[in-house]
Amino acid sequence: MVLKEACGLFGVFGAPNAVELTYLGLYAQQHRGQESAGIASVQGDRLVHHKDMGLVSDVFSREVLSSLKSHAAIGHVRYSTTGASSALNAQPLVVDTAHFMLAVGHNGNLVNSAALRRELERQQRFFPIFHTTTDTEIVLYLVAREPDLLRGIRHAVGQIRGAYSLVFLTPDRVVAVRDPNGFRPLVLGKRGGAWAVASETCAFDLSGIEYVREVEPGEIVTIDRNGPRGERFLPKKRCAPKRCVFEHVYFARPDSRVFGDTVHVVRRRLGRALAREHPVTADLVAPIPDSGMSAALGFAEESGIPFELAFMRNHYVGRTFIQPSQDQRSANVEIKLAVVREVVAGKRVVVVDDSVIRGTTSRSRIRLLREAGAKEVHLRVSCPPTRHPCYYGIDFPDPKDLIAAKKTVEAIRTHIGVDSLGYLSLEGMLSCVTGPPSSYCTACWTGTYSVEPVDAVRKDIHEREQRTEKKEERGGGSLPRLARRSPEGEGGTPSSFSR
Ligand code: SF4
Repeated sequence: MVLKEACGLFGVFGAPNAVELTYLGLYAQQHRGQESAGIASVQGDRLVHHKDMGLVSDVFSREVLSSLKSHAAIGHVRYSTTGASSALNAQPLVVDTAHFMLAVGHNGNLVNSAALRRELERQQRFFPIFHTTTDTEIVLYLVAREPDLLRGIRHAVGQIRGAYSLVFLTPDRVVAVRDPNGFRPLVLGKRGGAWAVASETCAFDLSGIEYVREVEPGEIVTIDRNGPRGERFLPKKRCAPKRCVFEHVYFARPDSRVFGDTVHVVRRRLGRALAREHPVTADLVAPIPDSGMSAALGFAEESGIPFELAFMRNHYVGRTFIQPSQDQRSANVEIKLAVVREVVAGKRVVVVDDSVIRGTTSRSRIRLLREAGAKEVHLRVSCPPTRHPCYYGIDFPDPKDLIAAKKTVEAIRTHIGVDSLGYLSLEGMLSCVTGPPSSYCTACWTGTYSVEPVDAVRKDIHEREQRTEKKEERGGGSLPRLARRSPEGEGGTPSSFSR
């Protein structure tokens, strides 16, 4: 199965210490992926690279960084969300094409990669071409078909669908590309004569790189010895921004500027809106560290209930949400958070969390509070109930894993074991970001997908047809077909698709 990923990117051109800057940029974006890390850089007319499983600090030693020394580099941190997590899939992916050496890092998830992969394999049937199970390798081969990099990129973006922020490296340039919906963030920055791109601005701050602007949806930005040049591969009027609100709710770092807003400021607004929508009488407001911190602060400000640290986090355990297996996730809850008994004993506690995905983590945390003697526990969630899968690169792919897809809010309250439960409304959430509501993706809450998840729909159709055939063999009636294609089909401008 093709791996899906949500990752962190960095690229820089024109700095004598490009590799060190890339290392720092990846280090600052470690929260976007903790399974593998890699850097590719330029040496003469060749690319060299180093990548491996593990954290940035584990993968790169001083000696390795010295061996990569260059004026231009790209880097990537990654986590897999389905299938095995393996060194083979670590990025940047690097190939030596007939025309040039090329490296690529990808943040996002293609929705038609299975179809493209089948087609590429059909064309190359005597020469199996795929070495990894990532959708990024498809991009690489599509680009490499053309003798010119930019022509190759234009060819590739004409075929691929879904979420992609991409950064390419060849011996003479760094190129950044963002999909027409701009699902994932990608920003451009400058330091002296050097120009850089990154998923989040926190990757710039550590190195004194100044934020310049976003790479726009539908744009290709080339950085070479002449500086940066932007060109559109799709006219602005045909691009429909659908920026991932979940980057603000959970994924991005609070000090980053994402889609024009500072994440901490947005989360604080989410907390304030939550307090207005779901007021409660309590003694203290406690965040789930770390991503619930800003929203809890906002909730405390709006409600006038004191902010307290009831949970203490062990920072040496990875983020629960992005561990690859359910067993590991469950075990980590206990290891990761401890309750300060004196803070909660005999108290009415409002817990503010950024999301409830499977419910197992929340349930364990509430149990810890009860065991520590909390008199009442009220859970407030700074986004709406997550009922639908994300096909654009965040790790909740199957509705069977989503508690809100199966249970009512009241049933979730009982399951988790809280005295009251309140989710922020969709309108409330969208009122906290500064862009127009229609410019954000909300598919995991609404089920309305702006780019049809082609592979998922085909898989669904295939499974239904198989079930129908079996039923017909048994003499039963046929099931309704699920196919609901967008008017433009696979190759058109972004459209809406509802599950
Ligand atoms: S479906 Fe949800 S998580 Fe996925 S891109 Fe849209 S808002 Fe983000």
